[in-house]
Amino acid sequence: MQTASNLKEYRKELQEALDNEFLRTAMDKFAVAYKSNVNNVFAGLDRKAMIAEVAAAKDAAIQNQEALFAEFKANAEKNGVHVHLARTAQEANELIASIAKENNCKRIIKSKSMTAEETLLNHVLEDAGFEVVETDLGEWIIQMRHEGPTHMVMPAIHLSRHQVAELFTSVTKEQQSDDIQKLVKVARRQLRRYFAEADMGVTGANFALADSGTIGICCNEGNARLTMTLPRVHVAICGLDKLAASLNDALKVVKILPRNATGQAITSYVNMVTGANECKGNPEDKKIMHIVFLDNGRSALAKDPVCGEVLRCVRCGACANVCPVYRLVGGHQMGHIYIGAVGLILTYFFHGREKAKQLIQNCINCGACKDICAAGIDLPAIIQEIRARLNEEEGAPIESTLLGKVLANRKLFHTLLRFGRYAQKPITGNTPYLRHLPQMFMRGQEFRALPALAPKPFRDIWDEVKRNNPVQPKLRVALFAGCAQDFIYPEQLVAAAKLMQAKGAALEFPMGQSCCGLPVQMMGERKAAEDVAQMNVHAFDVAKYDYIVSMCASCSSHIKHSYPSLLKGQPSEQVAVQQMVDKMTDFSSLLHDVLGYTEDDFKKGQEAVTYHAPCHLCRGLGVTKQPRDLIAAAADYKPSAEEDVCCGFGGSYSIKFPEMSSATLKRKLDNMEASGASVLVTDCPGCVMQIRGGAEKRGSKVKVQHLAELLVSKMK
Ligand code: SF4
Ligand code: SF4
Repeated sequence: MQTASNLKEYRKELQEALDNEFLRTAMDKFAVAYKSNVNNVFAGLDRKAMIAEVAAAKDAAIQNQEALFAEFKANAEKNGVHVHLARTAQEANELIASIAKENNCKRIIKSKSMTAEETLLNHVLEDAGFEVVETDLGEWIIQMRHEGPTHMVMPAIHLSRHQVAELFTSVTKEQQSDDIQKLVKVARRQLRRYFAEADMGVTGANFALADSGTIGICCNEGNARLTMTLPRVHVAICGLDKLAASLNDALKVVKILPRNATGQAITSYVNMVTGANECKGNPEDKKIMHIVFLDNGRSALAKDPVCGEVLRCVRCGACANVCPVYRLVGGHQMGHIYIGAVGLILTYFFHGREKAKQLIQNCINCGACKDICAAGIDLPAIIQEIRARLNEEEGAPIESTLLGKVLANRKLFHTLLRFGRYAQKPITGNTPYLRHLPQMFMRGQEFRALPALAPKPFRDIWDEVKRNNPVQPKLRVALFAGCAQDFIYPEQLVAAAKLMQAKGAALEFPMGQSCCGLPVQMMGERKAAEDVAQMNVHAFDVAKYDYIVSMCASCSSHIKHSYPSLLKGQPSEQVAVQQMVDKMTDFSSLLHDVLGYTEDDFKKGQEAVTYHAPCHLCRGLGVTKQPRDLIAAAADYKPSAEEDVCCGFGGSYSIKFPEMSSATLKRKLDNMEASGASVLVTDCPGCVMQIRGGAEKRGSKVKVQHLAELLVSKMK
């Protein structure tokens, strides 16, 4: 369980995880296999529709939580079940301990329950003198190691079979082989005894049906069924968020949960219990059955207009499976009890801001979790919201406050950048990189060469570029440059302009524009993000243009997805914001879909070119085909492995967590080189900065370009 109280300590823990070679290799293998399993299991199904169904059913249940609880309680009590509502984790634990005591239970078996992990139930029961044994294989292993789970579905994924064999040897006092089948047999033999002798079984629940008082548990090992049936007392602990109106709604979850979790069409067991069953030896021959619903902040969260949708979560764990951060360091460093993207969020709400404030910084905003989420939760947006709330609650770090102030003042920001051009001269060594940056600025950044500011920003050469506008334009396009292309890579904009003008686009470059504001949004500087958004909306006379195009995927995606919510409190801006959102497009889509570039427009060479798909293009905007078609039209396109996995840039993330950024970049560079291509192109200046900087530092022969630079060099 991550408990670092400051960033320095947390980074140290991250480095220890990064140094764990076994963990890294196991996570890499799992991440690659997971994607292909999931693609196979959803083949032929409408995944988006399945997600939308879950989201709608869960939203309705969240809004109706109190009524569903009352209905469930009435129906379950009719069937002889005792139903409780615990407001806090402590209340739930005390309640369960008192049920065990009242019924003279000594031995307690458990099947896997994240809700019981949330309340730290085992510790409380053990402290009260009960013997508690986990019966899920992974949970049993980590219980014996005195660890928390590193994954919500596969709690012991971080361990090798050798480590498990050693553990089983010490438990059984017999030498155990590291053959997995044999290890499973050892566990089965050991656990059987506990099943037979237990007085009480504690389970979780994947759903609780209000209209019948039924609980359901999905499980692969059969241990949940034994836990709920063999002991004379059964206690289920379940979050209020597991309430569903009916079986029809629960089945929507049952259909997607195993597919998203492990790539299975269905779990081996879907257990459902309605009421206390027969149990010889108990009074009235009936099982003693209790269901403890846990609130622990859920009813307040249900009323939260921005973050409440996190209660849709079905605990499939997929947001960890695809997360580049989780993949590097595992769940002990990317969560407190709950892990992955949802873990960062739930830690804040269930375990408090002290536990959450370092963790919540460790998100690169790649959007992979949102893309895979079984319940359609906008996890990155909620992570950013929590950062903003933490800044408001605790005060923002000085560097983010300063950046916010500078970005919200365009003239000051641009003056500083212009000054930087002169100030950097002694440290560039006449190269496009900052070669001799003082150590205090380079700390942790040695993994990549940092680019120098361009001799002239794009805005200073705009008049020249504008001269090439067609006399009789077919369409009018406004350029949104973003700060990286305006001040560091103006040549990317010049190349893009040539391509657009050649197909009849008349370009405009509104001078009042500035940074899109994503960096301050990522840092939780809400007010600065709003001010910058407003400044850019005012800079564009939107009605005059057919399109607004950005060569930076992050800018396009941020404007499209965040500006409406950032400016929602300003009714007078709504029309202009909506027009800007509607007209905003990315460079590849404009060239491919609107200007109609095909292979007839290029002198196709033999040069092998590979591609990196920027997170905010492929997931943020859903653009995947257009850039690849354009590359294939102009060159010999050689796909590389995991093209759509983040390069590790993430703006300020790569400065705050350089060790994580560097490890993510390393995998990207390895895949780039393994593709056999001599050029890598991408369509985001941030990704160019990261991958080109890493390639330069490594001495790679692969040239890294913006897509516009490749295409303009191949124009007929
Ligand atoms: S946005 Fe990316 S880095 Fe952040 S939690 Fe989601 S998957 Fe992980
Ligand atoms: S947030 Fe979404 S992806 Fe993550 S565990 Fe919950 S349902 Fe699964």
